[in-house]
Amino acid sequence: MIRAGGPISVERYMGLANAHYYATRDPLGVAGDFTTAPEVSQMFGELVGAALADCWRRAGAPADAAYAELGPGRGTLAADALRVLGKAGFAGEVHLVETSPPLRAEQAKRVPGARWHDSVEELPPRPVLLVANEFFDALPVRQWVGGEERRVAVAGDALVFTVDGPIREDSPAREEAVRAVARHLAEHGGVALVIDYGHARSGQGDTLQAVRGHAFADVLADPGEQDLTAHVDFEALGRTASAAKVTRVVSQGEWLERLGIAARAESLAEVHPERADEFAAARKRLCDPDEMGALFKVMAIHSRSWPSPAVFE
Ligand code: SAH
Repeated sequence: MIRAGGPISVERYMGLANAHYYATRDPLGVAGDFTTAPEVSQMFGELVGAALADCWRRAGAPADAAYAELGPGRGTLAADALRVLGKAGFAGEVHLVETSPPLRAEQAKRVPGARWHDSVEELPPRPVLLVANEFFDALPVRQWVGGEERRVAVAGDALVFTVDGPIREDSPAREEAVRAVARHLAEHGGVALVIDYGHARSGQGDTLQAVRGHAFADVLADPGEQDLTAHVDFEALGRTASAAKVTRVVSQGEWLERLGIAARAESLAEVHPERADEFAAARKRLCDPDEMGALFKVMAIHSRSWPSPAVFE
């Protein structure tokens, strides 16, 4: 395409590469390219479910509320969260926003009765308990050097950037998605938990990265065969979600500890004493600042008629 039509923006490059990447594989887990929090431990999805259940109950437990998730991967988070939500009395519909056929198939195995959508705009007109874990980081970013948009060109047999220098990033695709979430919450009620790696304040420079086989790779190598992500700018997301109420941003480690991951790890270890070390190691991996605890952040968005979820009150 570049040879025929000339350089394309970083945004278009990332969008096309990731569309092919996700459409053609299940990239998650030890045998794949990267491992996400719900794949580290069931405790992650269970605490997401507990936070949503508590918020739903304090909102009066509306029976028409639905569970919704953006980019649900293998469906592991949804299965773990819905188990806890079910124990709290929630029996609502399940709506998954997912474009990848192989991942839809994985989700169907773990979340019976789910319905699928291509975009947030297609969610049904009901209150939602919505989760997005490592969804926004996969949506394309634009890169700017001064006033010039950075593009990808061909030089000989290789791909190259058209311009280098101090970089600023923004993302119309992320803004469109979060604006749709906020609009849905404002119109129909509910709460959304956005969990991703990124920063609480704008202005971090070049954060585009490629991951393959659990290691960093060259972002211009093998387009469509490796995962492209960029840090999520939570300040920009929050600004764009102003149709609803936006909470502060907390680190994933603080959030999980305050939701009670220590107690959950202990009670699991009582039931499965032979796996006690595994639960302790998973808690450390999810919460330690040196591991996923500090880089990953959590922010909630909720309608004015619903309370702030636990930890954000
Ligand atoms: N939330 C999961 C998976 C994260 S990987 C987990 O935590 O394990 C990113 C997910 O977003 C995948 O399910 C991918 O197929 C989906 N995705 C990526 N781009 C998308 C888009 N434009 N629309 C809908 N889903 C998308």
